[in-house]
Amino acid sequence: MSDSALFPTYARFPITLVKGKGSRLWDDQGKEYLDFASGLAVTNLGHVPDAVKNALVKQLDELWHMSNLFSNPNQEKAARLLADNSCADTVFFCNSGAEANEAAIKLARRYHQKVRGEERYEVITFTQSFHGRTLATLTATGQDKVKEGFLPLPAGFVHVPLHDLKALEAAVNDRTAAVMLELVQAEGGVIPVDPDFLREVRKLCDKHGLLLILDEIQTGMGRTGKLFAHQHYDVEPDVFTLAKGIASGFPVGAMLAKEKFVPAFTAGSHATTFGGTPIAMAAVIATIETMLKENAPQKAAEAGDYLTAQLRASLQDVPGVIEVRGKGLLIGILCDAPVSEQIGELHRRGLLVVPAGPNVIRLLPNLLVTHEEIDAAVSLIAAVLTEKAAAKQA
Ligand SMILES: *Cc1c(COP(=O)(O)O)cnc(C)c1O
Repeated sequence: MSDSALFPTYARFPITLVKGKGSRLWDDQGKEYLDFASGLAVTNLGHVPDAVKNALVKQLDELWHMSNLFSNPNQEKAARLLADNSCADTVFFCNSGAEANEAAIKLARRYHQKVRGEERYEVITFTQSFHGRTLATLTATGQDKVKEGFLPLPAGFVHVPLHDLKALEAAVNDRTAAVMLELVQAEGGVIPVDPDFLREVRKLCDKHGLLLILDEIQTGMGRTGKLFAHQHYDVEPDVFTLAKGIASGFPVGAMLAKEKFVPAFTAGSHATTFGGTPIAMAAVIATIETMLKENAPQKAAEAGDYLTAQLRASLQDVPGVIEVRGKGLLIGILCDAPVSEQIGELHRRGLLVVPAGPNVIRLLPNLLVTHEEIDAAVSLIAAVLTEKAAAKQA
């Protein structure tokens, strides 16, 4: 029997983090780390940001929870902030990314079946995508490894290769309800979507009356250098989903839609006990207001350009490094072999990074990361990758 009473669902790194502030984390031995993971794109304003902490402390003294059967001014305000700063008009709050995608899939089906009176239900997604771990969202995910042992999977999901317009067109039929994609496939290896392809997907959705759903759970909240990644493109989604960075670490998900799709959900058609609770919404409001006040997305764009340029310059002659790719501060270093040893060594030297698939080192510093911190991270990465490449050749 193992010492732990937890399900072994994570291959955890051997580090116990107990404190964080800004870009820094400390473990239970007092060792300091530079955090280029941000809890997987969650703590986008850094750890324990003062504005969010103060809002949470204030709300802790007032009201933690009440039912969604009562009106909720914090939820109204958070939704208004999101709508005013995006192409969406309406918001449904839940508690995680998977739940937000689940809500989007339900909205797409119900829009066709109840508003338009068509028996459409199929959602087309892309290979290598990641959309979550509930039964519907793992079925939507275009990676077999998340599906093993969970049969039977829900019906109504179809996958086509990313950037293959012909395959996408061929997959559309009279059951198709929506197309769903990430603008940078994050878990799948940090693969940015080509803007021309996205434009064609939008055209195809318009032609067939399909919903374009963007999964912005990792790319949203300033991560790619705009508040939402689709704002880089001249394409607007019908629906998009958020979670991860939306509340600086408090668990919140959101599904946002244009007005046209609002009639698909009526009282009783979708609900959650914890979604949009006053305390969660205090974290959302403070996070968004701080991001806007600090121009955090713009800072992320600038820092992302700098980090990418420094990585490309330092790694260009390192054997085994294929490319540095991504958008804003969602960056992957693609190597020609598994990178778990390199990641372990970077952790030992005080830089926290995470993988994205076996061969990609993923960098997700907070949006306010400094050039000094970037320089420190890049020199550690270059040193470790160079040493490992030399050891391999010897
Ligand atoms: C993390 C992630 C999810 C799932 O979010 P959870 O909060 O873990 O359920 C879905 N889609 C994308 C793109 C993600 O990065």
